[in-house]
Amino acid sequence: MGKRIGLFGGTFDPVHIGHLRGAVEVAEQFGFDELRLIPSARPPHRETPQVSAAQRLEMVTLAVAGVAPLAVDDRELKRERPSWTIETLESLRTELQPDDQLFLLVGWDAFCGLPSWHRWSELLDHCHILVLQRPDADSEAPETLRDLLAARSAAEPQSLQGPAGQIAFVWQTPLAISATQIRQLLGEGRSVRFLVPDAVLAYIHAHDLYRAPN
Ligand code: ATP
Repeated sequence: MGKRIGLFGGTFDPVHIGHLRGAVEVAEQFGFDELRLIPSARPPHRETPQVSAAQRLEMVTLAVAGVAPLAVDDRELKRERPSWTIETLESLRTELQPDDQLFLLVGWDAFCGLPSWHRWSELLDHCHILVLQRPDADSEAPETLRDLLAARSAAEPQSLQGPAGQIAFVWQTPLAISATQIRQLLGEGRSVRFLVPDAVLAYIHAHDLYRAPN
């Protein structure tokens, strides 16, 4: 039997318990051997001032330390430029066994935007896609995705077969937390305790991150 590996990309600016709780729930539900959080590169002008990609990576590393099966994968930050998901999948596949199963986690909103992704029709050659449902996201799938959904949706998320190729919908306990909210609170000098893991909180304070410039 191949390994079951989940992939969860994001800017994680900073990582927070909404990300982490969701990751733990999906990992348990699917019995993942690993769930890799993959911080994405951003063009330099889109980085949060005073917070580098290396610091975002360090915060994710602290957040998942000792929390198996969560792990960090830094390949997108090692590249010179923001990377396409298809390239990340291709790069991962060169390191895995052919029967290892890959599960790409995407939020409903991101899933609806799939047709704008680079080489999007090839994504399912490399992974399954797990679409994370939220109560606020009950809109219809765009026309361009209807055929794909009809052809590739699995009735039961647990029944996804093989290393790649199917789509399933997954429910998650909603936690109304965003990195934007956390940056705002910190910018106003307010507490973000219990919105991020304690180790991340300590890191933010030690490096004076997300503070409004004086
Ligand atoms: P920002 O507020 O800066 O846009 P964010 O909190 O939405 O950030 P991202 O790093 O952009 O975080 O998100 C990475 C992934 O995590 C996305 O797929 C997003 O849908 C998901 N995510 C973000 N917040 C939550 C949450 N509270 N619960 C579950 N999933 C979340």
